[in-house]
Formats: sequence, structure tokens, C-alpha cells
Amino acid sequence: MAAVNPLSNPKGVRLQCELCNSPAYLQCTGCKVTYYCNANHQQADWVSIHEKICQLLIPLRIAEPFRSSAKERLHCIEQLSLRKKQLIGITLKEAQKHLYGGRHADVIPAAMHSLSFTIDVYGLATVELVPMYLILAEANIGLGHLLQAEEYLSQAYWTVLKTTDCSNSIRSKLHRNLGLLYSAKGDFEESLRHFSNDVYFASSVSGTNDISVTGGYFHMANIFFRQNKMDIADSLYSEVTDIWHAHLSKLLIPHVNSSSKGISELFGENNQESLDENHEAEALQILSAIYDIREQAAKKDPTKMMQILHALTVLHFLSLDFQKVIKLYCSQAIWQNPDKEQELFSYFSVYKTGTQKGTK
Ligand SMILES: [Zn+2]
Ligand SMILES: [Zn+2]
Repeated sequence: MAAVNPLSNPKGVRLQCELCNSPAYLQCTGCKVTYYCNANHQQADWVSIHEKICQLLIPLRIAEPFRSSAKERLHCIEQLSLRKKQLIGITLKEAQKHLYGGRHADVIPAAMHSLSFTIDVYGLATVELVPMYLILAEANIGLGHLLQAEEYLSQAYWTVLKTTDCSNSIRSKLHRNLGLLYSAKGDFEESLRHFSNDVYFASSVSGTNDISVTGGYFHMANIFFRQNKMDIADSLYSEVTDIWHAHLSKLLIPHVNSSSKGISELFGENNQESLDENHEAEALQILSAIYDIREQAAKKDPTKMMQILHALTVLHFLSLDFQKVIKLYCSQAIWQNPDKEQELFSYFSVYKTGTQKGTK
């Protein structure tokens, strides 16, 4: 984290905390244009987003020299708007990443920055604000701040209602969040209604077998699970696993077909087929939760265990986590040959020792 300078402000200058707008007493030494009321707020902002945007804020916050011609002034305004749009992208991506990782408190500063840059560029009450409202709502649901979440969701709801050109994928995400809110309040009926709207709008964009429908199905399954309606929950979890498995396997094909290439060549940064970062986080969240549910079931179904283990194996392979691939592969083999458990785990420990030696 960048160090902080205690402030001695000239008379009449009132600097505000980046996070809470209270009077500020500390300054970030990295950019010297960001201020905080205390070290806790500086730390929270740093972890959430400031580390990524510290230097990018400098040109936005340093007063521009006086421009004489109208052309120069216009150019300056355009440059500023471009910088703000770049910051909207970075802050939104970071907020989303924290959200998928379940780090709800870290979502808030990044999403608030994203919201304020978007208001700056597009104005209030525009559809561009909806993704930020939804992320803020979901983080607040995760933190148990339901009133705050409800406020963001009603902002999102009214904005969508007033916009004729709002995309169905935004509508799908709005209903998913409304579903999560009602689920947190214990109103399962209303929650299921929103999740089925979520699935409806998501499938109207990319079809019924696309990964975008899995979020809605997964949350519906969780409701049925909580209501102890195991048959329907089970079949929805299977559906979700199948869709992810098919999607991940499709991404795997080019790697399998070109086994002569080296790993680095296959998973290079320019590789179009590699797994998108947000999808990877979403898949990990959903598939791990289903695995835990399958694993904790009183009576484990071997077919369903194999199905979820295989989907997770492909996911970890695509994320280059080969230790987990081997471990999951052993677990699958054990489900097929339960009497070989000891033998398979001894292979795994030999493999682990080998790779550890190899990295020294
Ligand atoms: Zn503060
Ligand atoms: Zn800074």
C-alpha cells in the first residue's frame, strides 16, 4: 500500500475522504490527489480499487491550465471523457471480480467509483448506471444490508422501466438480484418468480443451453433445496452442471487436438479460446457449491458425483490448476473403483512430491 502524508491544509481548503466524504486528514503519497479521513478508509479503498487506479487519477484531478481557443478546450473535454470511460471499465471489472470471489465489502469502494465516473460521463438516470446499481445491490445482500440493497435495486428497476432500449441481459441480471433480495428476506415465492424471469430473459439472448441461464437455475435450485424439495433441486443442479460441463469441454477441444504444443503456447495471453476471467470465477462459485451439496448428501449418487467432479476437473484444467486436476481425477477414479482408494492416493502423493522437487 502507498504511504500516507498527514495533511496540513491551507486555510479555507476543505478536502474530503475518498470513501465517506468526511473531512480528510491523510493524503495518498502515490498520486497526491486522493485523501482519506483515516487509515482504515485508505486501506479499504486501496484493497478494493485504488491500487489499480492511483496513477490514473492524477490527470483527472490536477487543474488543467487555461486554454485560450475553443478547439483546445473541446479537445481537453474529449480527453477527459475518454479517461473517465477507461476508469469506468477498470473499476467495474474489479468490483465484479470481488463479487464473484465473495469479497462483498471490497466490492463497495470499486463499484462506488464506477458509479460516480458513470454519472460524470453519462449523467443521472441513464441505463449505463444499472450494472453498478446491480453490483452494489448484490454486495449489500451479501453483507446482509438489505435496506441498502433494496434502494439500489429500486433505482435499477425504475431506470430499466423508463428505458426502451435496455438489453435483455441487463433485465436478466436485474431479476436475479431481485430474486436474491426476496430469498434473503425469506419470501421464496416472489424470489422464484424473479429467478424464472431471469432465466427467461437470459435464454432469449443466447438460447436455453447457454451458461447465462445457469445463474437463475442455480439460485432456483438453492430455494428448492432450502425448502427440502430435493427432487426438483437435484435436477436443476444437474442441468446447471451439464451446461457448464458442455461449455468448458468446448473450450478444451483446441487444447486436446493440439497436444503436441507446449503448455505456454496453448494458454498464451493471446489465446482466444481461454476461459474468460469472470466466467471462470462464476463457474468456480457455482460448481464448487454444487460439489459441496453432492458431497454432503446423506446418500451420494455416483453418477451425479462423477458429473460434478468431471466438470470441476475441466474447469481447473482450463485455469491451469494442475494440482487440483490430479486430485479431482483421483476422486473420479475412486468413484469408479472404490477398492483402489489407497493405491490412487499414493500415486497422487508421489506426483506431488515429484512436482515440488521439480519446482526447486
Ligand atoms: Zn472516510
Ligand atoms: Zn493514490
